[in-house]
Formats: sequence, C-alpha cells, structure tokens
Amino acid sequence: MATGFFSDERCFWHAGGNYAFTLPVGGAVQPLAAGGLPENPETKRRLKNLLEVTGLIRDLDQRSADPASRAALLRVHPANYLDTFKEMSDAGGGELGRRTPFAAGGYEIAALSAGLACAALAAVLDGELENAYALSRPPGHHCLPDFPNGFCLLNNIAIAIEAARARGQARRVAVIDWDVHHGNGTEAIYYDRDDVLTISLHQPRNYPLDTGDAEDRGTGSGRGFNVNVPLPAGSGHAAYLEAFDRIVLPQVHAFRPDVIIVACGFDASAVDPLGRMLATADTFRQMTLRAKEASQTLCDGRLVLVHEGGYSEVYVPFCGHATIEALSGSKTTVADPLGETLAQRQPGPRFDAFVAAEIDALAALLDA
Ligand code: ZN
Repeated sequence: MATGFFSDERCFWHAGGNYAFTLPVGGAVQPLAAGGLPENPETKRRLKNLLEVTGLIRDLDQRSADPASRAALLRVHPANYLDTFKEMSDAGGGELGRRTPFAAGGYEIAALSAGLACAALAAVLDGELENAYALSRPPGHHCLPDFPNGFCLLNNIAIAIEAARARGQARRVAVIDWDVHHGNGTEAIYYDRDDVLTISLHQPRNYPLDTGDAEDRGTGSGRGFNVNVPLPAGSGHAAYLEAFDRIVLPQVHAFRPDVIIVACGFDASAVDPLGRMLATADTFRQMTLRAKEASQTLCDGRLVLVHEGGYSEVYVPFCGHATIEALSGSKTTVADPLGETLAQRQPGPRFDAFVAAEIDALAALLDA
C-alpha cells in the first residue's frame, strides 16, 4: 500500500493581516518590503515543489480532498465561533483571536485545510493507504474550540479525529506534536479525555507564553493522558531522539492507540526564525522512522502526519522531504544542503548530558 500525500493549491492562497514578521505594522513597526507573517505559503509550496523536482512525489498517492463539512467542524468548534469566522470571511476577511488574520474566503480555505487532514486519516483508517501526509495550511494545533491563535483558525487534527470517531473508527488516538511550539489547542480539546493521548515536545515559553508545563497532565478521566515534554532552547538532534526514546515511545506503547497522528511542524530546525532549537532534516527523518515503527508494532502501521509550523523557506522543504522519505520508504532522496554545517553546530556532549538528565527527571515525574 502507498503513502498518501494530501495537498491543495487553495491552501497556499490563505493570506491576510498587515504584519512585519509577528508584529502588527504601525507605530514604530515599519512595513516589510516582502511583508506578512512568517506563516506564509512558501515553506509548504517549496516542500511540494521539491517532492516534484526529486521525483519523490511519484512514489506517493497524491490527492486533494473536500473541505471539512460544517457538521465536522461543529464537533470541535462552537457554532457562534464558526458563524463569526464565516461572516468576516465573506465580508472580505479580518482577524480573530491572536495572530490569526485571514482574507476573503479564509473560512473555506481553513475548512479545506481541515478536510485534507480528515481525508488523510479516513483513507488510512479505511485501509486505502498505508500511511499519509497532509500538507494542511493554515495549521491547527494552537486552535482551541473558540480561541484561534498562533496562525491556527481551526484545529485540523481534532476535527479529523472526531470525524473518524463519528464513523466508529479511531477509538484510541495518540497525537505526537513535535512542532517547536506547544500544542495548546489540541491539549485543551482533549484535556479531560482518556481516549486521545496528547504528547507535545516543545521549547518552553516560546509560544504560547503560559502553557506547556510538564506538570499539566490532564484532568478528570483525562488525567495522565496529556504529556508535555519541554526541551531547553538549544536542544538538537541527540536531545530530540533521547526525548522520543525515553518519553514519547514508552507513552505511546503504554497507551496502545488505534492510530498515531503527528502534528508535524519543522520549526525545531536549527535555522527556523520562530524557534531556538538545533534539529536537522535527519532529526525529522529519525523521529518519523520511530513513529512509523511504533505504528507498525501497535496499530498495523496506521500513521498520519499533519503539517503544522516551520518557517524557514529554504530548509523546511529538506526537512519535509526527509520526513516523507521515511514515511513512504521511498529510495528517492536529496542531500541535505545544511547537513554538514548543522552537524558542526550541535550543542555537544555536555549539553546533551544536561538535557538527558532533564528527560530522566521528566520520565520519573510521569511514572510517579
Ligand atoms: Zn510552531
């Protein structure tokens, strides 16, 4: 069976807001010549372009999808939020929440972004595809039911999970979020539930500034089913794999999911403007291989990656290519043009030992 690749040009047309980097233009903030938020189409479009240039895309089952239906959106987001979003979108666009601008038609594009995630998950659960990658945009993992934030207007992964559950599938879902920012929206949606395990690896107090602590373990029957793995700024290849092996994989194995979903951001890379980590394309390759192996052991290989952040227009395509090589098992590869440089910039054994001790402490906290 093939690996699915779900994308749609319309997702690259999501736009809006008058920003210079993450700052609203005005006052002392001068407009940028090539303005806008770092969340722009080029990272994703260039990833798709690279897959075409190398030929890897020919090894994938390439599809688009229908937008997520209103009924699907309503399983996660309240009607009054969706109504407000749709009205503003119809009226030419605007901004809701925090750092979530959109232009005319933004509502339909966000629903399409969620629809790509829904279709990817459905095709894997139906056994049409071995696994899948959804190039969703706008991203989703920061979005709470009624509070869009951090470039996220709808929670794509939660919408996909609830659509699958409404069809009687995916009773137990593990979400591994390796975006450098905390997956606060997904955490909030599932904080009191024991059927969706949410794990977030992130740089603490990067974004948001007030969530993501290791002590936040869930509430009620959801207690123990939320796992935050804050990694110190500067963590690189070794630290990410240590966290994966010592925390993420044991948690996922203990949970025994029916499917594994990865909130796949590439902003932990060493050259990302919105993160301060030192991951490389090979880090994402190795994490993907580990997630794939876990899915093969636990749930017949059912694994879906949904694109989240990642803001280096030059490097995200190489990180994504390595990830999709690993996901699909394709032999079509491309050399990492920054690989040798970033190998030299890794933090080194003393820092890695410090992070390993932090991870040991976290593992003990989770076992307590
Ligand atoms: Zn991010």
